[in-house]
Amino acid sequence: EKYHATLEENRKLFNEVQELKGNIRVYCRIRPFRPNEDHKSSTTEFIGDNGELVLANPTKIGKEGSKLFKFNKVLGPMASQDEVFKDIQPLIRSVLDGYNVCIFAYGQTGSGKTYTMTGPESATEEELGVNFRALNDLFLISRSRGDTIMYDVSVQMIEIYNEQIRDLLGMDGILNASHPNGLAVPDATIHPVNSTSDVIELMRTGLGNRAVGATALNERSSRSHSVVTVHIQGVDLKTGATLRGALHLVDLAGSERVDRSAVTGDRLKEAQHINKSLSALGDVIFSLSQKTSHVPYRNSKLTQVLQSSLGGHAKTLMFVQINPDVSSYAESLSTLRFAERVSGVELGAAKVNK
Ligand code: ADP
Repeated sequence: EKYHATLEENRKLFNEVQELKGNIRVYCRIRPFRPNEDHKSSTTEFIGDNGELVLANPTKIGKEGSKLFKFNKVLGPMASQDEVFKDIQPLIRSVLDGYNVCIFAYGQTGSGKTYTMTGPESATEEELGVNFRALNDLFLISRSRGDTIMYDVSVQMIEIYNEQIRDLLGMDGILNASHPNGLAVPDATIHPVNSTSDVIELMRTGLGNRAVGATALNERSSRSHSVVTVHIQGVDLKTGATLRGALHLVDLAGSERVDRSAVTGDRLKEAQHINKSLSALGDVIFSLSQKTSHVPYRNSKLTQVLQSSLGGHAKTLMFVQINPDVSSYAESLSTLRFAERVSGVELGAAKVNK
């Protein structure tokens, strides 16, 4: 039971939850260079302890081409999966107190989104990503509180590809998103989790069913959004009071802009759907931050599915993923600009649009 924290650790983590301020946090994660990349050609000029990142334009010399970005935290190339998880563990555990939490990974293909959320293919235990760790942690902690609260933990796993929702753990076929107060995708199968091995098996099945296509950037590039939802239902054994929480773990499709001359047919259609849904996500978060009365949830399947977990008392964390290579400068800049729009923003008072 590798990820089971001690009681003392738990208390500390729970106290930290209380201290989390604001409902949206943005973390930037810079992946390390791969063996075939030139280590000298990094666009990340400076990584500060306090969430600062300086991105340098490779075609301009000196300060002129450098731009400063600020995040809640910057995780450099040396940050381990364990460090990353420990950092967000309080947020994840707040689901057991009845919160809705959404964790996204955003970035261009090859920037480490899947590494952060899931881990690499055939990952060692140390390499396992947020999905495995979060599910396992929630499962174990819910069991450890078993003499005061009885929890049920269950999982749904869907993918959104070309604005169509599919169940990654059930039958093939296109599903509908539902209204904000019920389950986001009522027809997607729900799987109770009763052991750590259940967790592993479900995750592997779901991941195996993800639509993957080949692009020039990364042959196993994902053109779909995948959403793992962990549902928590707790009953207080003394008072009979019930609580519900949900954790959404979202590996977004690659954010890269598509060179229209290089892409046609199905690939172009995919790219257009991806662009549309990512900008709809940006619009929803922006509009929540402005506390406007109309929040445009209906503009994409992604925002419809996540509606109950964006806004209100929900908490959101976005991992903004960066490939440090100079060849990725333009994409990194555009990723960081998207993040800039999202960061410093508080999800809170906006009304849910009916
Ligand atoms: P994306 O999901 O954004 O397309 P991947 O997660 O597939 O990107 O990452 C691209 C490559 O970089 C993969 O081979 C992955 O294993 C590797 N990688 C990404 N992030 C890290 C990291 N933090 N440490 C080690 N390798 C990483």
